[in-house]
Amino acid sequence: MTNRFNEASLAEINAVMERSLTAFQEYRQISSDDKAVFLECIATEIEALGDALIVQASAETNLPAARLTGERGRTTFQLRMFANMLREGSWVEASIDTAIPDKNPPKPDIRKQLIALGPVVVFGASNFPFAYSTAGGDTASALAAGCSVVVKAHPAHAATSQMVYEAIQTAIAKTNMPKYIFQHVHGSSFEIGKTLVQHDATAAVGFTGSFAGGKALYDHAAARKNPIPVFSEMGSINPVILLPDSVNKNAASLAKQLAASITLGMGQFCTNPGLLLTVESEGLHSFIDTLGNEIEKVIPANMLHAGIHTAYDNKMHDALAQKAVVLIKHSSVVSKNIEALPTVATVNAQIFLANPLLHEEVFGPYSLLVVCKNINELIAVWKSVRGQLTTSLMGTDQDLADHPELLQIAESIAGRIVFNNVPTGVEVCASMVHGGPFPASTDSRFTAVGIHAVKRWVRPVCYQNCPQQLLPEALKNENTKRIWRLVNNEWTKNDVEC
Ligand code: NAP
Repeated sequence: MTNRFNEASLAEINAVMERSLTAFQEYRQISSDDKAVFLECIATEIEALGDALIVQASAETNLPAARLTGERGRTTFQLRMFANMLREGSWVEASIDTAIPDKNPPKPDIRKQLIALGPVVVFGASNFPFAYSTAGGDTASALAAGCSVVVKAHPAHAATSQMVYEAIQTAIAKTNMPKYIFQHVHGSSFEIGKTLVQHDATAAVGFTGSFAGGKALYDHAAARKNPIPVFSEMGSINPVILLPDSVNKNAASLAKQLAASITLGMGQFCTNPGLLLTVESEGLHSFIDTLGNEIEKVIPANMLHAGIHTAYDNKMHDALAQKAVVLIKHSSVVSKNIEALPTVATVNAQIFLANPLLHEEVFGPYSLLVVCKNINELIAVWKSVRGQLTTSLMGTDQDLADHPELLQIAESIAGRIVFNNVPTGVEVCASMVHGGPFPASTDSRFTAVGIHAVKRWVRPVCYQNCPQQLLPEALKNENTKRIWRLVNNEWTKNDVEC
């Protein structure tokens, strides 16, 4: 992929990372309240770009203005959410155990909180040019944590990324933040990503994108002399379990709901329902008929870029060419140029189990229905897929009562378990988990969405017998910000009495 921005050279990357490290040291001295003002200012400056940003992003990604406007709103909401988190302050997880000098041996005074890791390198995905890109969740959470950030601009929306970068530069100037607290590197060679990940100054990496990209960067980090954490959020096929009583009672509405989710945004979501699992049942034929009819009606539309379209077309046709995979329906409208052809297919459980290619993400408006003989076979298929961002259970009360074992299986597979709804649509809130067992992400203990995303960029440090005047604000006896602290094993907002 080419763009009008120069490929960063090795010398430039070195300079960028050195400056990022220096900026990180300066940023550490800045108060949480000032960092909150900075994050809010970034949101305001992005909004100030107005329609020009939406027009540019739409030209680069083929995404419609309405979708991009919503995504911009989500991006600025996230920035303000982290600003609020900083002002409130409890996110540092302050924990205090006061000394017991007459214990034998004497117990020292020990106090712990989370501190920032250092410069973070962020790689965004092509399908979210705002929310998982330049000023997206990784950048917002890393800046909130106290890290400096270097973004590798996605070549598929490099000019959009540049506009957002400039908005952040304005916010840096207006709020007197260190000049290089946020930097931007252009380029489409994988060497640039590798160099950024392996630079000595880099302390952690955030990635959103394909399995191939996320795993490659993870491996580069692991090969360093001093390995660093890489939080790769990667593709997923998001299995949807269609239980028999629900299929018998709601075949048509389920099929319509799923067809809409499969083709939402031309299927270009990491939460796209790429795998549907069900058992033979009376309602199955009606479900398949309606699903096919609904897919036939969807008009093909342009995908994000030619590379994504070629990958979709190849993978979709490869899947259809596999032994015993039966096409249910394509869209009835022939696709042109880089338009995606919405498609659903079906296969039986034994064929699916024997063919790993069918387990792979086909990024686009495609889904595979696996029909199983009974619930035990369905469970075997479900367990055979690897870690997922989500899994959904479509079932009546009767279905869920009949199969209480399903919840435990869902927990072992996915980060988010959805009941009677489709997986597309990720709410930004504190309880959201956007992540999952490998290969959905490289570290299933964390989420990329919601305030807890900040935990990826910090580590705990404890201070033993540290004089009051040297302690970080959150750990002093006086609780000036009235944050929640665990003091001698009790949660409190009170000062420590000594
Ligand atoms: P991508 O091709 O992996 O690109 C993401 C970024 O990683 C780009 O900047 C890309 O740079 C870089 N990159 C990719 N491979 C690399 C390598 N081997 N070495 C160094 N850098 C590398 O992903 P995409 O096509 O933009 O996005 C679509 C994929 O993202 C889908 O699989 C989708 O499911 C996934 N996704 C996941 C989430 C999630 O939260 N889990 C969210 C959105 C999308 P170049 O372009 O220069 O190659």
